Amino acid sequence: MAKQRCDGCETTVKIAGGIGDLWGFDFGPTGGMILELSDGTEHFLCLDCVDLLPEEYEPTAEDVAALSAASE
Ligand SMILES: [Zn+2]
Repeated sequence: MAKQRCDGCETTVKIAGGIGDLWGFDFGPTGGMILELSDGTEHFLCLDCVDLLPEEYEPTAEDVAALSAASE
């Protein structure tokens, strides 16, 4: 099991590493993913934040920063 902090909302989410850990987490974000953006930066985002990224163009680090600002 691993935990990682979302670069957008700064929530610590669990990344599935074992079936027991995966199903033992019954409240809050359920996961996330590392995105490599068009500007070459990599960001770990929870699934909620992935949903919030713009779909009409390739997100950049600025869009991730905007997620962080919006969550405060
Ligand atoms: Zn997030």
